[in-house]
Amino acid sequence: MKPGRIVTLLALVVGLSASLAGGAQADACRQPDRTAEIATRGGPAYGTLQYRRMVPLAMKEVALTFDDGPDPHTTRRVLDILDANCIKATFFLVGYYAERHPEIVREIAARGHTIGTHTWSHPNNLRRLSTAAARRQIRRGFAAVEKALAAAPPADRQRLAPFFRFPGLNDSKHLMAWLGARNIATLSCEFGADDWKRIGARQVRRRAVRNIASVGRGVLILHDTKPHTAAALPGIIEDLRKRGYRFVQLAPAPGARQLAASAPDALIAPVAVAAKPVPELRGAQHAQAAGLPAAQHARADDLLEPVKSVQ
Ligand SMILES: [Zn+2]
Repeated sequence: MKPGRIVTLLALVVGLSASLAGGAQADACRQPDRTAEIATRGGPAYGTLQYRRMVPLAMKEVALTFDDGPDPHTTRRVLDILDANCIKATFFLVGYYAERHPEIVREIAARGHTIGTHTWSHPNNLRRLSTAAARRQIRRGFAAVEKALAAAPPADRQRLAPFFRFPGLNDSKHLMAWLGARNIATLSCEFGADDWKRIGARQVRRRAVRNIASVGRGVLILHDTKPHTAAALPGIIEDLRKRGYRFVQLAPAPGARQLAASAPDALIAPVAVAAKPVPELRGAQHAQAAGLPAAQHARADDLLEPVKSVQ
């Protein structure tokens, strides 16, 4: 064969394998993710670390959840790792940060992840607050994320699920009943990775995999605010896949969002009502535009800085 032909043939082979590899990658991401649908009517609590119920996962299925963001330094890094691995996760956002980084909230939604909330300013134990202050913390958490998503397309606004996670997992019976009356589910977990402690990425990776293996399925809590978590994430995914685990996205059951929106004194507005982009509005003005009562906005705790989180 003439050298010219060999070069042409080589180019063809190289081109073909490159396009095959690209196609395979795209196909892997195109395959429908397994989604675990979470019932929220009456505000059930999930996570066998604390409660009787587990979200509907089969053995060797894991749902990744990330708390305390959005963080301008690390959340996008986590999003890129998830994208590269075709994984959809759930982010429990802190309202204070959602208000400061609404573009990251919109990016989380646009990249197909589920969003829950985690209070306004992350007080580590809501039980230590007055009932009114604790409820305001939860309400403002939801309102801030809705405000950030108000400028997003309807499909992305729909990513905000009626899911709540207590800071430090410190729940309270009366707040859970109050959430339940608004059809908001409490999401705890089966395991963590101690990534809120001062440990390195290798330890986070080892502990995540060890804790998951001890139960065999469940919800993992990580923190997208921690650089060592972002550094550990590719290894956690690799180790779990090698052991035959698959990643499942948590999503509200069909109609759950409307169910929460139609509750009396709702914490979440129907997407149809919040349809107009209102990025320039603030506080009470936005609350009205989003169909939420204005009274609980513009309170003294609007300026509360988040507590340094422990979990
Ligand atoms: Zn937290």
